[in-house]
Amino acid sequence: MCLPVNILLTNPGPINQYDGLNLVKNPVRPLVAIPTTAGTASEVTAFTIITDTERRKKMVIGGQFVGATMALVDPEMTMGMPPAITASTGMDALTHAIEAYLSKNAMPPTDLFALKAIELIIPSLPVAFREGRNVDARSSMLLGCMYAGYAFNSAVLGLVHSIAHPLSVHCGLPHGVANAACLPHVMNYNAPEALDRMKDIALAMGLDVAGKTPQEAAKLAVQAVKDLSKELNIPTLEALGVSKEQFDRLADDALKEISTLFNPRQPTKNDVKNILEQAY
Ligand SMILES: [Zn+2]
Repeated sequence: MCLPVNILLTNPGPINQYDGLNLVKNPVRPLVAIPTTAGTASEVTAFTIITDTERRKKMVIGGQFVGATMALVDPEMTMGMPPAITASTGMDALTHAIEAYLSKNAMPPTDLFALKAIELIIPSLPVAFREGRNVDARSSMLLGCMYAGYAFNSAVLGLVHSIAHPLSVHCGLPHGVANAACLPHVMNYNAPEALDRMKDIALAMGLDVAGKTPQEAAKLAVQAVKDLSKELNIPTLEALGVSKEQFDRLADDALKEISTLFNPRQPTKNDVKNILEQAY
């Protein structure tokens, strides 16, 4: 929340006129960001997300003047996070890394950070979830989150975030939970357009893909994300109180999200509704 406030100290309000890229014109005051979760990576990205309650839309405000001046990233600050928040924010970070790697805007430097983030997050998230005071797991999560932030800051995101934003706005789902519920199903949907990259993701997850075809490796990666969500007690959309009557509106809004443009496969409204059905 500190980033939007900092924007308004040197740029006139209201904040919703800056929904988009490079609309914030005046430099902001110096700001030191200290993350207390390992998820959003706002401390290292040029984006801030804020909900416009009137338009029922999550605004994505991005640009050279949006980010923090300095990030103080200390695992001690995340030790007190309860398990459910550790799970949802950690799945947000994993989603950032996977979506950045599969993005149409992915490039060699973002690939490096995205794969390293996956490598760090996959083994450490269940440990941080079970043992909140495990400093090694908390350190790996924060580092993984930050690397994922470096990756998506340039590569942008994809359809998981496009669906998660309306799920939060219309159904009140926490961002990380909405991402986690949709992530394996969007990976499965994207796989035919990104088979080699899905195999890279499976490798970064530490899965045994020796001798496997890219199709088989992609399936293993999808299953590993489903298993991780189960281990972290991530509920289905049905258990979260989402009604199927909302699918139409959710799908319409997901297609309007900027991150849909960067998804490796261009979805139709029916594709999005099918993904929501699978996550139900
Ligand atoms: Zn996110």
